[in-house]
Amino acid sequence: MARFESKIIGIDLGTTNTLVSYYDEIAKRGECCISREGGSLTPSAVFFENADSYIVGMDAKDCAILYPDRTALYFKRLMGETKKAIDIGGTVYSPQQLSAFVLKKVVEDAKEDLEEEVKDVVITVPAYFTSAAKQATKEAGIIAGLNVRDIIDEPCAALYHIDSIQDLSGKRVMIFDLGGGTLDLIAAEINDNEINEIAIGGDTRLGGKDWDSMLQKYIRNRYLNGRTLRPDDEQDFERDIEYVKKSLTGRLESRMILRDDALKIPVKITRSEFETCTKPLLDKVRKTIQIFMDDLIDRGVAGFDKIIMVGGASRMPQISELLRIMFHDTELIQKDCDEAVAKGAAVYAKRIAQKSKRFTVRQSFTPKKLNRISARSYGIAALLGDFGEKKICNMIFKSADLPASVSKKFYTSIDNQKKVNISVYETTAAERYVDLDDRMLLGNCELHIEGELPRRSEILVDFNLRQDGTLTVEGREPKGQTSVKAVMESRALLNAEELIEQKNTVNKLIMKE
Ligand code: AMP
Repeated sequence: MARFESKIIGIDLGTTNTLVSYYDEIAKRGECCISREGGSLTPSAVFFENADSYIVGMDAKDCAILYPDRTALYFKRLMGETKKAIDIGGTVYSPQQLSAFVLKKVVEDAKEDLEEEVKDVVITVPAYFTSAAKQATKEAGIIAGLNVRDIIDEPCAALYHIDSIQDLSGKRVMIFDLGGGTLDLIAAEINDNEINEIAIGGDTRLGGKDWDSMLQKYIRNRYLNGRTLRPDDEQDFERDIEYVKKSLTGRLESRMILRDDALKIPVKITRSEFETCTKPLLDKVRKTIQIFMDDLIDRGVAGFDKIIMVGGASRMPQISELLRIMFHDTELIQKDCDEAVAKGAAVYAKRIAQKSKRFTVRQSFTPKKLNRISARSYGIAALLGDFGEKKICNMIFKSADLPASVSKKFYTSIDNQKKVNISVYETTAAERYVDLDDRMLLGNCELHIEGELPRRSEILVDFNLRQDGTLTVEGREPKGQTSVKAVMESRALLNAEELIEQKNTVNKLIMKE
């Protein structure tokens, strides 16, 4: 019996680490592939050695302090926000391209481990990622030359993993996922055949990396009076800080040596000191959960049967303590913190393979169907009445069942209007009308009208939010002599030409070991 039949792998493309997994038919669960470096985690780091070659993984991460100008880290946080992540000798790389370098490397390693050709993938994304960030993740897969069969929210993937090893049918659960860069929350109800998402929340800028930064600041202030270190001492300092943070999960006290020129300063730090200096971050976690729960309580959901904790940073004792205080008797499940998302993506990939005519996959275990909801609300900027205020008019609301399609009529405001600019906004607000905020602008759709139309002519705006949380918007003028149509463009997403160009650039470079 082949251990890997699905032919679709799961990829947890993380802020700090990336993992690949497959559904193992013998073990009947998702399993992680082993990289050429020997473990399941590959740091999501890219080092540009020169104009022709790059390195991905641990060696690249090690180069970050010595060659910060040529090393890209934490670029997942830029997905969907910009097309420019790093400039290497005049070549600007997008976050999508940097992610593609990582994807190429981990898929090459997976092929070697599985002894199989692999082209089809499911990639996980934070549930709270914006629509543009989700779309950018699909673009990264295309640039890497992969068939992205689906993208799935990280907490949902973790849920697939836990459900494949202990049936969660009949339970309402919250998945608490605190990774290197993001906090993701999902509430879901599970029955015999389905996983139904009921709420999505989180913070895309809160993760283990922030605990590292705060601890670093504390030690720097206490022992170095804010001085910076020599680059190689700085590199050791950053590594030691993460070590101290991790060791304080199991111990009450940890030590490190701070090297500053010829000086060697012994540093001792207790768990309680660590918890005190990082308290603002725990407060942020508490606040995020509170906002998430307020929304659920309004909808009549007061608690959960189980809380599933995933993501490396959820291991910190202060996190489980906070959840115990906030959710009293609710059972906390902490299994496979680092690998649950990747392994669950493989379980979900098996479901896709089973439903596809292209693959022959045994039906002994059928992963449940996933019914998704929208993490955000989507609308356009519109004038409220002829002389009214300009506001965001939401068309698809947060927590709407996916896929969702909505068409709405708007009107031209002057005679012979030649251009209609449809500005699309993405917010977390649940109301129909929301104050304009340019930070929430997702993209623009510019409709050029030929011919002469009287004031108050109809403009139709179509929103289509897919299952995977990516949005397309079209504007139409239906009644003119020639009906015109325009599609939304975003500042952070690539058009067809850019995709080909960026793919060629990635293919031209040589991946070094
Ligand atoms: P992930 O994105 O799930 O791989 O999580 C990575 C984050 O988890 C990094 O910030 C790690 O430093 C952090 N992490 C991993 N193990 C531990 C641990 N034992 N205690 C505290 N943080 C940890």
